[in-house]
Amino acid sequence: MKVVVIGCTHAGTFATQQILAENPDAQVTVYERNDVISFLSCGIALYLGGQVKDPQGLFYSSPDALSKLGATIKMRHDVTNIDNQAHTITVEDLDTHETTTEAYDKLVMTTGSWPVIPPIPGIDSDKVLLCKNWAHAQALFEKAASSKRIAVIGAGYIGAELAEAYSLKGHDVTLIDAQDRVMPKYYDQAFTDKIEQDYVDHGVKLALSQKVASFDTTATGVTITTDKETIEADLAILCIGFKPNTDLLKGKVDMADNGAIITNDYMQSSDPDIFAAGDSAAVHYNPTGKNAYIPLATNAVRQGILVGKNLVKPTTRYMGTQSSSGLALYGTSICSTGLTYDAAKAQGINAEQVIVEDNYRPEFMPTTLPVLMSLVFNPDTKEILGGALMSKYDISQSANLLSVCIQNKNTIDDLAMVDMLFQPNFDRPFNYLNILAQAAQAKVAKETVK
Ligand SMILES: Cc1cc2nc3c(=O)[nH]c(=O)nc-3n(C[C@H](O)[C@H](O)[C@H](O)COP(=O)(O)OP(=O)(O)OC[C@H]3O[C@@H](n4cnc5c(N)ncnc54)[C@H](O)[C@@H]3O)c2cc1C
Repeated sequence: MKVVVIGCTHAGTFATQQILAENPDAQVTVYERNDVISFLSCGIALYLGGQVKDPQGLFYSSPDALSKLGATIKMRHDVTNIDNQAHTITVEDLDTHETTTEAYDKLVMTTGSWPVIPPIPGIDSDKVLLCKNWAHAQALFEKAASSKRIAVIGAGYIGAELAEAYSLKGHDVTLIDAQDRVMPKYYDQAFTDKIEQDYVDHGVKLALSQKVASFDTTATGVTITTDKETIEADLAILCIGFKPNTDLLKGKVDMADNGAIITNDYMQSSDPDIFAAGDSAAVHYNPTGKNAYIPLATNAVRQGILVGKNLVKPTTRYMGTQSSSGLALYGTSICSTGLTYDAAKAQGINAEQVIVEDNYRPEFMPTTLPVLMSLVFNPDTKEILGGALMSKYDISQSANLLSVCIQNKNTIDDLAMVDMLFQPNFDRPFNYLNILAQAAQAKVAKETVK
C-alpha cells in the first residue's frame, strides 16, 4: 500500500507514526515544504518572552525519527497538484525545482492552515509579520530586538499571548482588534474585563473596536491607520485567524464554506482514498453537535492518530471536541471549554449561565486564592455546554474535567454532587466545581419557582 502524507507538522507527524505502527509494510512517503517538522507554535510566545531558552525543545520529532520508523521523508518538497481520479500527486523539489508525479493508494491531507491575510493596503510590508511557523518565530525573535513599539493585530489567544510576552520584555505594545473585547470567542465579559485590566496594568494599550484600514511603511517602522486612530509602530504582527490550506482538493472533496475538509467519523473525506486531519479539516464540535473549524494542536494530534487507525478499515471513531484551551497571562491561568454564554445564544441554543467566584481552599489555610468560574448549561435538559475558569491558582485540570462532562453529556446535577476529594490542602468539602454546579442548580430552581 502506497501512502502519501502531505504536510508534516502535528497532524502529519502523528498520522505517519500511527500509520506505520498499524501497517508496518506500508510504503509511506511524507512531503513537507518546510525544512522542519513537528514545530510547536504554542511555544512561540514563551520563546519571545524568554521562558523557553532553547527553541530546539519546541520540536518533538524529526525527519530522521520518522525515517527510522520506515517513512520516506521528502523535506522541502511542495505538492502542487492532486489528481484524485488518477491517484497521483505532482511534487516540486524546492531546491532543484525538479517536478515529479507520484502515485498513491491512500492520501493523507495534513496541510494545515495559513494565517488569514486580508487585502488591506500596505499589508505586504516587511514590517508586518505573521506568527505561525518556525521561520516566523525566528523573524519575530530577531526583529523584536530593534523594535521598541510593537502592534499586535488580533486579540485572539495568539495575539493575547504575544502582547503579554512583548510587554514583559519591555516593549511598548498596542493590541488592536475589531471586536470590543479581547478573546471574545473563548471568554465572556466577566473574564475579559479582568484580562483587559491586566493588560492595562502592564502598560499594554488596548485599541479595541477598531478595524485596520491601511499600513504605511515608514523609514523607521509602520503607520497603522484604523477607522478610529493612527498608531505608530516599529513592527506589526498580524494574527487575526487561520484558514485551511486545502486549495489542492478544491472541488474534489466535500468542504465547509471556509475550505475545511469535511470527514466522516473515521477521518475519511468524501473521496474514500483521501483522509484529512488537523487544521485542514473540520472538527465535530460536541457542544453543538455540528461541524466547526477549530484549528488547535489538540485536534490535530488526535485526528492524526485516527487517520493511522482507520486508513485501511474504519475501526476507531472520532469522539469530537469541546475546543478546550488555556493560556497563562501575567501569572493568571485562564482556561475554557465548550460554549461561552454569548456563543450559545448566537447559535440559538437555550442557555443559562452562572458566574461564581470562590476561594479554591479554606481561608484557615496559610494561603488561598480566588477562582472565577463560569458554567453554561441548557436549563431544560440541564446539560453542561461550556465553562471557563480563571485564577492565579492552576485551574487547568478543572477545565479538563468540565471538558469530560461536556463530552459525556453530564448535567449540572451530576457535577453538583460528583465525588471529589476533600482535604484542606486542596479544596473545601465541596470542590469549587461542585459549588459552581450547585449555583447552576439554584438558578434553575429559582427560575422554576417564578
Ligand atoms: C502561535 C500559535 C500558538 C498556538 N498555540 C496553541 C496551543 O497552545 N494549543 C493548541 O492546541 N494549539 C495551538 N496552536 C494551533 C496549532 O499550532 C495548530 O492547530 C497546529 O499546528 C495544526 O497542526 P497541523 O499539522 O494540522 O497543521 P499545520 O501546523 O498548519 O502544518 C501543516 C504543514 O503542512 C505543510 N504543507 C502545507 N501545504 C503543503 C504542500 N502543498 N506541500 C507540502 N507541505 C505542505 C506546511 O508547511 C506545514 O508544515 C497555535 C498556533 C499558533 C500559530
